[in-house]
Amino acid sequence: MSSEQKNLFVSEGHVTTTQRWALAGHQGCVVWFTGLSGSGKSTISREVERELFERGLHAFLLDGDNLRRALNADLGFSPEDRAENIRRTAEVARLLAMSGQVTITAFISPYREDREKARAIAAASGCEFFEVFIDAPLAVCEQRDPKQLYRRARAGEIQQFTGIDAPYEAPETPDVHVRTAEFEVRECVAQIVDFLLPRVQLATAQV
Ligand code: ADP
Repeated sequence: MSSEQKNLFVSEGHVTTTQRWALAGHQGCVVWFTGLSGSGKSTISREVERELFERGLHAFLLDGDNLRRALNADLGFSPEDRAENIRRTAEVARLLAMSGQVTITAFISPYREDREKARAIAAASGCEFFEVFIDAPLAVCEQRDPKQLYRRARAGEIQQFTGIDAPYEAPETPDVHVRTAEFEVRECVAQIVDFLLPRVQLATAQV
């Protein structure tokens, strides 16, 4: 804590997270997608967000590329900057979760330690955190190459590219493990939605 931070005081509002979730009709939570570039995070997260929304849930997607062009525009791809990218995202995600959103984040988030910190940030605010591994073999991601990033990384035009010359630490015990090379997009979406729906339901006593 810096000397300036010692002069700051956390203030509590008069509306509790439980009350906000009761108004939303379900719990907020953080649904943290992780996976290689091209594994399907953006594609599936957009569909999960829409599916939840159409079922009447408050759902909000934080997409890695979008945040890197805005809130995180000052960050690069060194391990330190990647950690900061994830820290800021985790902070935004837990605020949204506290407000009653099923908050989906779609970031490569290659380091286990950073993902565990994101989980801890959510937990400290009483929000559940579900890690969703969007899994496809590197060879499949490279063949899909929707943004032509692997081609450019192989050509040496992009450095520190996850899977090529930067590591990806796969989750060891993800809450949901979605294999996108084996299942259609709609099947992957259904696996995640089916997992989430019972877990965001409020206990009757809270409603
Ligand atoms: P990421 O966000 O992880 O970088 P994208 O969603 O941008 O990945 O790209 C994944 C690509 O793979 C898209 O072109 C998508 O159409 C294709 N794809 C093929 N099968 C699947 C699947 N089962 N799930 C997700 N994407 C798939």
